[in-house]
This record gives sequence, structure tokens and C-alpha cells, in this order.
Amino acid sequence: MVQNMRIPMSAPYITEEEISAVGDVLRSGRLSLGPKLSDFEAAFSAYMGTKHAVGVSSGTAGLHLAMIAAGINEGDLVITTPFSFVASANVILYEGGIPIFVDVDPETGNIDPALVAAAAEDLRSGAPQARHWLPPSLRDASTHYRRLKAVLPVHVFGQPVNMDPILETARQYDLRVVEDACEAIGAEYKGNKVGSLGDVAVFAFYPNKQMTTGEGGMIVTDRSDWAALFRSLLNQGRDIFSAWLEHDRLGYNYRLDEMSAVLGLGQLSRIDDLIRRRARVAEWYNERLGHIAGVASWPVVETTTHMSWFVYVVRITNGVDRATVMASLEKAGIPSRPYFNPIHVQPFYRQRFGFQVGDFPRTEALARSSLALPFSSIMTEEQVDEVCDGLAKAMRSLVK
Ligand SMILES: *Cc1c(COP(=O)(O)O)cnc(C)c1O
Repeated sequence: MVQNMRIPMSAPYITEEEISAVGDVLRSGRLSLGPKLSDFEAAFSAYMGTKHAVGVSSGTAGLHLAMIAAGINEGDLVITTPFSFVASANVILYEGGIPIFVDVDPETGNIDPALVAAAAEDLRSGAPQARHWLPPSLRDASTHYRRLKAVLPVHVFGQPVNMDPILETARQYDLRVVEDACEAIGAEYKGNKVGSLGDVAVFAFYPNKQMTTGEGGMIVTDRSDWAALFRSLLNQGRDIFSAWLEHDRLGYNYRLDEMSAVLGLGQLSRIDDLIRRRARVAEWYNERLGHIAGVASWPVVETTTHMSWFVYVVRITNGVDRATVMASLEKAGIPSRPYFNPIHVQPFYRQRFGFQVGDFPRTEALARSSLALPFSSIMTEEQVDEVCDGLAKAMRSLVK
């Protein structure tokens, strides 16, 4: 396995000030449900420009609660993308929903809005072709499925999804829009921050993300009823809010602790700098990749008015086998990752839903050719040189 790598795949950027703030919390004795969480939430909603921000223990936990708020029940349908981290589809299954995967835009790797519209139209019409959008093992007439309720777009690698046509489809069919913004804090679509575009959005703070709280996440929404529901659900379903929540609901422990919250507060105060540093590293990569035959940088499209680089992913364009490139890099002490392995071909999804290779050709073509290189806010120009030299050598030896 990957050992003794000279350059880390990712690395958090944490200051001495943040470390001592965490120490202060530990010394205070108040480790959960305290003032740091409320401060972090207030700062986050101010940054996002949303009415509410609700801290949770992970991005996955936040997306799960968003599925509950969107009313997903057994057999309900949610349109989403197979080109993502597995959590974005798993949360649909947590509530018994059925993921309706549609293929992606071959350029950005983000969900294709035209396919979202086509799937919504067919599934709502109830026409025979509606079943073709269902996972293969559910297509026969005996499977009972319910309503199409929501769409869950993922802003892949920090690039905003083309949201306008998706929001239009959602309006037309009365669908809830849940943005998986876990990779995209600070990214802007046509001048607007992602996370403020749908009904609800979720951010994640795992250590490889643009900002970190260790484990942690944040749900943002303008809907006060949903914010109240989230606060109840994440805290064991405790019923301390409005009367409509009085029915007993199954709750969870998805709380964000005070140490994480104070770290998040520090990181958020530096978020513009953290994102700028990543953009600079991406720029260093872009400049050097121009000179490596068979390697292309990830395209940033016109609707992306601000890219927030989460990972730095390149495409191997000349049919060279990616695994061979990875092995060659690894020998040089440079780690890399095959981002993403599509969700529909994950063993669990194949078994449960009968998916096969070939079901989503654009996703699979991207997945076969994409390679994530080492990337972080604190990566140096010398390290970028080293990775690119290694990559250039690997490609030269493979392209005979
Ligand atoms: C990181 C990530 C998540 C989950 O975040 P966790 O905090 O690790 O649970 C969800 N979706 C996407 C696309 C992600 O990249």
C-alpha cells in the first residue's frame, strides 16, 4: 500500500491559535452543546448568507437529515449522480428511498441538467419508459415505487453544478433540491455561493476538505421549519421547538462537539485565505501540466464564477492506463487516487440494485481517466514541481 510517501495526498492547515482555542475549550469543561457551536453556526450563516446554519457531526449526517426534511420515505425517488462520493447516494437509502442515477456532463463531471429534466418528466408521467430510469433490479412491473420527491446534485471537486435548469425542473415538478456542497465551500455559480441555491445544502469538514473540524458538517437553509427539525433530529429528537414537531420522531446523535466547533470557527475566519491558497496550488499545477502530453487539467466552465478547489484532479487523455500511471507515481514516492470510483459500480450498489459497467458511460469514461494528485492549502511550489516531474516521467515512459 501507499507508504513513505514524500508528499502527503492531503493535509489540513491548522494554526497554533486554533490549537490553543481547542485547548481552552477542553480546560473550560464545556465540551458539547455550548457557546462555540452557536458562535460557529452564526458565523457560518453570515458567511453563507442563509437564514440558518446547523452544525452536525459529519457531512453525511447532514445529508441524511436533509433527506428526512425533504420527506423521503420508503420507495420515494431521488434523482442524483453516480459520479460522487458514495455518501451522497447512501443517505437516500438510509430513509428507504430509491436513487435515480442520471449521467453527468462529460466536461465538468457534474449531474447533467437535461437528464434531470428528462427523468423527472418520465417519472412523473408514469409512462412505461419511466421504469428505465429506475435501478435495473427494480425495473420489472412488480416493483412498487412511489413519488419522485427530490433532486440531490453534487458540486463535484468544488465546481458548481449548472443549477438554473435544475431549479427550473424542481419548480415544475415540485421537487425539493438538496445541494451536496460537501466539496464546494465558497464556490460561486453565476456570482452566487453554492449552498444558497436549493432548499437546503450540506457542507463537510473532514480533514481533506477546504476547512476542517476533524469530523463535522454544517446544514444551511432559509427554511425555519427545517432548521428547527434539524436541531431536534440531531439531538435525539428532543422536542424543544415549535408545536408541529410534537409528534414523536426517531432522533439521532449527530451533534458537533465544542472542540470541533471552535476549530471550525478559527478555520472559517480564514476561509478566503484557505481557498485562495488552494487556487494558487491549482494554478501551479495548471501551468506545469500544459507541458505534459496526455494529461489535461480539470475544466472550469463559464457558469463557475468562483471555483473552490477541493481536490486537484487531472485526466489522462491518451488512453494510457491510469493504474499504471499510479503505480509509476507511487514508485517515485508520490501518492494519487482514482477519483471517483462511480457509485453504481460499488459492490454494494451492484448487489442491491443490479447495476453494471456500461450503465452510465460518461461517468465511467471520466472515472477511468481521472486521477487526483496531492493537494492542500499548504502544498509548496517545490512539491508541485516534484509531482509534475514524476508525472511527466511516468507519462513519457508509458507513451512510447
Ligand atoms: C466529503 C463528502 C461527503 C461526506 O462528508 P463526511 O463529513 O465525510 O461525512 C459527502 N459528499 C461528498 C461529495 C463529499 O465529498
